[in-house]
Amino acid sequence: MRIAIIGGGPGGYEAALVAAQLGAQVTVVEADGLGGACVLTDCVPSKTLIATSETMGILGGSAGLGIRIEGYDGLMRPRPGAPAGPVAVDAARLNGRVKALAVAQSADVAARLAAEGVEVIYARGRLAGPHTVVAGDREVTAGVVLLATGGVPRQLPGAEPDGERILTGTLVWTAGVRAHPSLSELGLPLDDRGRLVVDSMFRVEGHDNVYALGDGARVPNEATPDHPDPPTSQHALRQARRLAKNLCGSPSPYRYRMLGQVATLGRYKGIADVVGVRLRGFPAWFVTRTYHLYQLPLLSRKLRVVADWTVSLFFRRDIAELGMLGQRRRLGDD
Ligand SMILES: Cc1cc2nc3c(=O)[nH]c(=O)nc-3n(C[C@H](O)[C@H](O)[C@H](O)COP(=O)(O)OP(=O)(O)OC[C@H]3O[C@@H](n4cnc5c(N)ncnc54)[C@H](O)[C@@H]3O)c2cc1C
Repeated sequence: MRIAIIGGGPGGYEAALVAAQLGAQVTVVEADGLGGACVLTDCVPSKTLIATSETMGILGGSAGLGIRIEGYDGLMRPRPGAPAGPVAVDAARLNGRVKALAVAQSADVAARLAAEGVEVIYARGRLAGPHTVVAGDREVTAGVVLLATGGVPRQLPGAEPDGERILTGTLVWTAGVRAHPSLSELGLPLDDRGRLVVDSMFRVEGHDNVYALGDGARVPNEATPDHPDPPTSQHALRQARRLAKNLCGSPSPYRYRMLGQVATLGRYKGIADVVGVRLRGFPAWFVTRTYHLYQLPLLSRKLRVVADWTVSLFFRRDIAELGMLGQRRRLGDD
């Protein structure tokens, strides 16, 4: 079985990995970077920004530990009239960290794909025929073509970005995402949000060997017959695994029941929807942390993190001297 995949995000790379493990010969065509929007602009960068904001929150409580930061009060609010202190978010540095983490994770995905023998072509791909993908100066012929081109931020009519920059400390974007606009050039069936219409085996309507999944497809889910899958990475990954097994082994319709959705909103605050029960505040934060813990590899690592979190629930942040950073002076030395 030879499979050509356009798009190397969670939907594309996971399908490639599982299919390759099941014996398929797989080529992934990716225009921007492996890991897709999830790694380069969405999941990883957003969590990195949240980590910085959580640390600023922790610094806000540092006055109780006897730490005074020039120019700020105990809640990390700038003191009126006081000269600016050393604590502020360095946007350029933060941006550098976001980029470095994204690039490192993208490299991890590339290494995994290489280890499984998946060929990657870094170019913009185009569906040139039911079995043909053109990528740069390469033409890939495959028994199955998978479109995993993801989505882009949705623009609201009348509020399209015009290039003007507005300096602000707070930006709230609630417009959501839409399918990648290039899908509209393929002549394939689309829904009202520009997503490819597929059946529960991920087959694009009316095309036997063209498949689609992830943010760029309207994927029906037998576990939620009234609602197609939402555009999240966790759904794209589940869809990818099912599709790869369908293509290389025993086919069955896609069915995935999500246990819920969780998010932290700073320290000790969060929102969660777990098996239909909605939580907020501390319980939601706790559930979110527990879920992330469950996702960590290795029991020993889980236990370490549990112990650390449990202790820090009851005490303020621990501050310790790192011996290797300086030579300790002996008692009695000047
Ligand atoms: C701010 C933010 C935070 C998020 N956080 C989470 C989270 O915490 N958990 C979660 O589950 N989900 C999260 N999501 C959603 C998640 O990012 C997406 O659901 C996921 O990335 C979809 O995966 P995908 O493979 O369908 O598409 P994408 O990740 O968008 O990947 C598609 C890839 O296809 C490539 N491509 C497109 N067209 C072509 C072409 N013609 N040729 C070659 N390559 C092409 C693109 O370059 C891209 O790399 C978040 C989204 C946002 C916006």
